[in-house]
Order: sequence, then structure tokens, then C-alpha cells
Amino acid sequence: MARLRVIAATSNPGKLEEFRTLLADLPITVESLAGLGPVRFPEEGLDYGANAVAKALAVAEQLDEWALADDSGLEVAALDGGPGPLSARFGGPALDDAGRVAHLLSAMKNSPQSSRLARFVCVAALVAPSGEQTVARGECSGRILPSTRGAGGFGYDPIFLPDGFDQSMAEIDSGMKDRISHRGRAFAELRPALERAAVDQSLEALEVHGTDE
Ligand code: IMP
Repeated sequence: MARLRVIAATSNPGKLEEFRTLLADLPITVESLAGLGPVRFPEEGLDYGANAVAKALAVAEQLDEWALADDSGLEVAALDGGPGPLSARFGGPALDDAGRVAHLLSAMKNSPQSSRLARFVCVAALVAPSGEQTVARGECSGRILPSTRGAGGFGYDPIFLPDGFDQSMAEIDSGMKDRISHRGRAFAELRPALERAAVDQSLEALEVHGTDE
């Protein structure tokens, strides 16, 4: 069976790696955007689903390829559900992952235990070259730790303690993160559409081949 080529509409290496491992057992090759020519992405808004679709649609339309994107964020009770869809820009554009983590810890340093409750949210979007869209959402509940723990994962993982675990998201092994995470759950829901796309592409290739003979 021919492998389906899907372009990951992300410049985040942590996400790209998770996209690849989450789909490793499917006949799908997840390619990075690197070297595929400039893609113009629209400004992101406050809706995970609209952002995820807009990113994947930009790649699908401009490169005429299958595209996969996610929009994700961390929602913290002490911050009234923020930073949410603004998680990547929390604290300003100059900060890196470590800077955003420090900013978040400082923003909630006087917060009571109960308001350390939090969840990661991910909306993943698969868009066909035709523009057809499939969207899936996943969540992972937990709480914000008082300081960083662990060196795995990326982003806010070192300060997130998933419910039912005594290790942070950056301490648990990556296979476990893939099973319990917001992204893992969204991708599990997206899986049938990805499998269908791979099969359809193989059948189309056979049909084209058949008419040639
Ligand atoms: P965006 O989806 O590219 O807008 O990024 C959302 C923000 O949340 C970025 O700062 C990411 O680093 C962070 N983020 C997204 N997914 C995860 C995750 O799985 N673990 C930790 N942080 C994440």
C-alpha cells in the first residue's frame, strides 16, 4: 500500500515529533514544512478549532497537499481559564518555552491550591488538498506544579501534573504522554479519517494504474 504524504503545518519541533510518533503505525509519512516553500499563515484568533483549520488549510491550499495541524493551549483556573488559545504568546513574543513557564508560575504565585487546577486542550485538523476538513478535540486534566520538574516533552510540560500521576508531563515517558495527552486524545479521534485517506489514496492509485493498462 502506498504511503499517504501529509504535511505538518507547524514550526514547533516538539509537536512535529509527537505528530510522527502518534501516527507511526499508519501508512502515513508526516513531512515537515521545511524546504516546501513559504506558506502564508493567517493571524491566529481565540478559537482552537478555527486556528487549527486555518493552519492546515493554508498548507493544503498553497501546497496542494494533505495537511495536519493542531492548535493547543493550557487553561488554568487561577488565570480564569487563560492563557488558553493565547498560550504560545503568553508573556509576549520575546519569551521562549522556559520564559513562558516562568511567567506563568509568577502570575499564579499567590494562588490557592484549588486554583492550580488546569487542563491542556488540543484541537487537531486534517485538511485534504480539496479543502475537505476533519476536526477532533482532546483534553488532559491536571494541576500546575509550584516549580518545574523533568526535561522531556516541550512547552508547559515541566509544570503540568496530569491527574492520576505523580510525575510531571515532562517526567513521564513519551509513550505514556502520547496515550494520555490532549494531543494523543485528539489524534485518536482523527485516526479513522487518516486511515480512510490513506486507503482512498491507494485505491485511487490502483484505479489510475488500471485505466493505463
Ligand atoms: P500553538 O498550538 O502552536 O498555538 O501552541 C500553544 C502553546 O501551548 C505553545 O506555547 C506550546 O508550547 C504549548 N503547548 C502545546 N502543546 C503542548 C504540550 O503538549 N505540552 C506542553 N505545552 C504545550
